[in-house]
Amino acid sequence: MARKTKKYKCPQCGGDIFSATAHVAQSWMIDEDGSFMELISDCTDVIHRPGLDDVWECLGCEYKDAGEKFLVDAPFMREGSE
Ligand SMILES: [Zn+2]
Repeated sequence: MARKTKKYKCPQCGGDIFSATAHVAQSWMIDEDGSFMELISDCTDVIHRPGLDDVWECLGCEYKDAGEKFLVDAPFMREGSE
């Protein structure tokens, strides 16, 4: 059964690999003053994945715009092979 699947493509070059900012939580080792000492884990949780309001950059042509500008509908894509 066909499902509507969201895909992202660069509107300028058609590329499909991008750079965007994710917000992640880190674990720090802190001292008795609560000051940073060293990093224990650089990503314990993902707070915010790159979204449609964030700036995305195409790694093919360096075109930058909001994520929503890269969104294309791919209504005929099939998921799995049922
Ligand atoms: Zn591009």
